[in-house]
Amino acid sequence: MRHILKCTSCGKYTLTEECSCGGKTLENKPPKYSPEDKFGEYRRQAKEEERKKQDLI
Ligand SMILES: [Zn+2]
Repeated sequence: MRHILKCTSCGKYTLTEECSCGGKTLENKPPKYSPEDKFGEYRRQAKEEERKKQDLI
């Protein structure tokens, strides 16, 4: 299986280990989930709480 590689120099996506610009390429692994998602739930809850408070006013 071929992996898409990303040039560390110019940021271009390629399938070769060396980019056409001469830069090194690395496997571009998408993160399973971004650490921000962990706090996304918190943010949603906080928003929900705020909405509830505003409804009471
Ligand atoms: Zn490049």
